[in-house]
Amino acid sequence: MAVCDLLIIGAGAAGISAAVSAWNAGCRDILLVDRGEAPGGILPQCRHEGFGMASFGHELTGPEYAAHLIQQLSRTDVRFLPQTEVLSVSEDRKAIVSSRGTVDQIAFARLILAAGCREHQIGSLPVSGTRPAGIFTAGQAQEMINLRHQDLGDEILILGSGDLGMIMARRFTLEGKHVIAVLEQQAHYGGMARNYHRCIEAYQIPLRTGVTVSEIHGRGRISGVTIKNLETGTREYSACDTLVTALGLIPEQTLVQDIGERDWLYLAGNCRHVHDIADSASAEGILVGECAAAGLHLGA
Ligand SMILES: Cc1cc2nc3c(=O)[nH]c(=O)nc-3n(C[C@H](O)[C@H](O)[C@H](O)COP(=O)(O)OP(=O)(O)OC[C@H]3O[C@@H](n4cnc5c(N)ncnc54)[C@H](O)[C@@H]3O)c2cc1C
Repeated sequence: MAVCDLLIIGAGAAGISAAVSAWNAGCRDILLVDRGEAPGGILPQCRHEGFGMASFGHELTGPEYAAHLIQQLSRTDVRFLPQTEVLSVSEDRKAIVSSRGTVDQIAFARLILAAGCREHQIGSLPVSGTRPAGIFTAGQAQEMINLRHQDLGDEILILGSGDLGMIMARRFTLEGKHVIAVLEQQAHYGGMARNYHRCIEAYQIPLRTGVTVSEIHGRGRISGVTIKNLETGTREYSACDTLVTALGLIPEQTLVQDIGERDWLYLAGNCRHVHDIADSASAEGILVGECAAAGLHLGA
């Protein structure tokens, strides 16, 4: 069984920042674990610019922002364990971890959970019809295109105009795909104005507000959807071979949901609350790292 003073679960912007700041605050026995192969969290799949204005004074891509954080981490002796998934955390301060086919325990004095967030799925909406292939969440689509170079389809509908939906509309367009429309149930796009101008307006992608998807059609592969106008109730069929859902993010707190508040437990980054920008997830990580190193508790 491994032992450490401070265990940090998740090596994204928040987890790395927490590890570096706890180290700088004098904590010398820190274990940072992530189920991924390398540190960075969501950042390596975010190839677009728009990261780091607050921290570094100019715009970086996600991988460039991650590289800065990893450089800071490399100046410490924080132990990083990749490909290590935490399966559970218990009240007696032990974590069960799975790493490369083996299961082990880590005993810790303090824990920072920096496990990011997960996406709402299509099943969270009252959508009837079939569930064929060709339906992806925006985060899945981003990873498959940017990191695995996969071809997801040609005729794309995007449901949800938050930052992730708008960024993926531009990504598909840059891939040479036809984005039929971004569909939004509200009267206004959901994400930042910056992303609306850079992704939707600049690429003249149709944004349809006040509508949703009420039915999915297709056997084997999606062939189209029914779009419902939420004001008039009218419905129309739109053919597509790919539906990308960008329905929002949920803080990932499953590992500690049965534990409740403890003076040894800290949350940072998107698993505490969803951050629009990485700078703010990093800033929270820095604060939480300092508190954990000092044994201070941070308010909600
Ligand atoms: C598509 C997209 C576009 C964005 N665009 C911008 C932008 O332009 N500018 C900007 O500033 N910000 C942007 N953001 C926001 C910013 O990237 C995030 O808020 C920030 O990076 C989140 O960091 P995090 O450390 O909280 O989470 P993550 O980066 O998600 O890190 C969480 C880590 O925890 C690990 N983990 C989870 N559970 C376990 C477990 N049980 N065991 C082991 N490891 C685990 C995961 O593998 C992951 O590496 C964007 C976000 C997305 C999704």
